[in-house]
Amino acid sequence: MIENSEQRKNMMTEDYKEVWAECLGVIKDALGPENKDVFSTWFTPIVPLKLEGSTLIVQVPSMFFYEYIEEHYIKLLRRVIKSQLGPNAMLKYSIVMDQTIPTEPHSMTLTSQGGRSTVNPLSTLPVNINKEGSREIPNPFVIPGLRKIRVPSQLNGSYTLENFVEGDCNRLARSAGYAVAEKPGSTSFNPLFIHSGVGLGKTHLANAIGLKTKELHPDKTVLYVTSEQFMNQYGDACKDKRVNDFMHFYEMIDVLIIDDIQMAAKSEKTQEAFFHIFNHLHQRNCQIIITSDKSPSDIQGLQPRLLSRLKWGLQAELQAPDVETRKAILHQKLQNEGGEMGDDVVEYIAYNIASNVRELEGALISLMAQSSLNHKQITIELARELISKYVQSNQREITIEYIQKVVCDHLELPVESIQQTSRKREIVQARQLAMYFSKKITKSSLSVIGLQCGNKDHATVLHACKTIENLRQTDRNIRAMVDELEKKLAE
Ligand code: ADP
Ligand code: MG
Repeated sequence: MIENSEQRKNMMTEDYKEVWAECLGVIKDALGPENKDVFSTWFTPIVPLKLEGSTLIVQVPSMFFYEYIEEHYIKLLRRVIKSQLGPNAMLKYSIVMDQTIPTEPHSMTLTSQGGRSTVNPLSTLPVNINKEGSREIPNPFVIPGLRKIRVPSQLNGSYTLENFVEGDCNRLARSAGYAVAEKPGSTSFNPLFIHSGVGLGKTHLANAIGLKTKELHPDKTVLYVTSEQFMNQYGDACKDKRVNDFMHFYEMIDVLIIDDIQMAAKSEKTQEAFFHIFNHLHQRNCQIIITSDKSPSDIQGLQPRLLSRLKWGLQAELQAPDVETRKAILHQKLQNEGGEMGDDVVEYIAYNIASNVRELEGALISLMAQSSLNHKQITIELARELISKYVQSNQREITIEYIQKVVCDHLELPVESIQQTSRKREIVQARQLAMYFSKKITKSSLSVIGLQCGNKDHATVLHACKTIENLRQTDRNIRAMVDELEKKLAE
């Protein structure tokens, strides 16, 4: 047992284990039984290495681990180390990236009195991942029992840059993508953030950049992952206590493509993991490519520090293609599918389907399927028939009731609440949104809409439409919500 700090200062180096064991005891008590998991996840893996005077050197399994405990438990650690080793006590970390070859202890920035130094540990501590000598890091993409591939890129081979038709709508994003593929991590487009509405080519372009990078730099490790996959893998890793393996795996990637990042904003923990991976990769000049259905500032629930990172590089928006680009896309698709169609038919489709490229392709494919099934030639008449059916069937679904349902589901209100006389803010807003979209999407008159939305008169409906329109212009949250609802209703 150690009596006081003076004595501790003069301790022999072998006492480090005892000191750490005591620290652990105090930490465990301080965290309490309700934080048993925190203790076993973040403190049990710490290994004491030695004691130099009143400096305790401990080994932690990864950079992420170090950053996590520094961020979340620095106060506790500081207090505990100080109580054990006196006021001048210091804690130094040795970070192990490779368990077969432990790194030399690096002095880290944590001290028991001064806290963090102003030196950025990431810049003073280059972490080299020794790919040859390192232990095998479990790869979350490899299903146990299947042949192990080191890092399958998960890229879709048919989404190439060559068949991503260029137009005014995508020129900036496409050429930035090409520049990134030529010099991944070395342009100022890092991260490259591609955003657009649905079906406008984000997934295609992000894949294409990955494929081009692999073609130009076969030695680079490229990985495409949807943020949903990322989120699930992280969740599994937490459950199985393999967070460090998860982090190591992602930190090995040279070009990381994360599709639909807005999905990850739903999970604080996933954002945290991504934040650390982002920092690590960016620091090593690895390329990060991100897609989203909104610009970074419009993604709801994004942590401010992650938001600021996402704005570091280039934000490129994909716009809806103009009619010439739509025609070029159709021609290219026809060529790929080996189909034939008169220019007049292509033009007809291009003029009539303008909202998104996925729909454009969908119409083309169903036209081709129809013609081959019924042995009919593809004519303008056939195209007209199909497109009008297509449009009609889309319209049939959008009734005032359907709009009410979508709005209420989104706001987590029972759909009956629209009919109530309640003046509760959320219900009033739901009613106004339902009126606004009903006016916008259906052909119903103001009076009919009013009647169906809580038995109101046409002036109330008009007022609701104006209110939402105004809020949409002035309130970012409302705008995001209205955009989101609009998208849901268009699905
Ligand atoms: P998003 O990810 O934005 O929802 P996708 O990348 O999935 O959109 O694109 C939808 C479909 O449209 C895909 O089949 C894609 O190949 C096609 N597409 C989009 N933009 C283009 C383009 N500029 N050239 C060729 N095909 C495109
Ligand atoms: Mg997509």
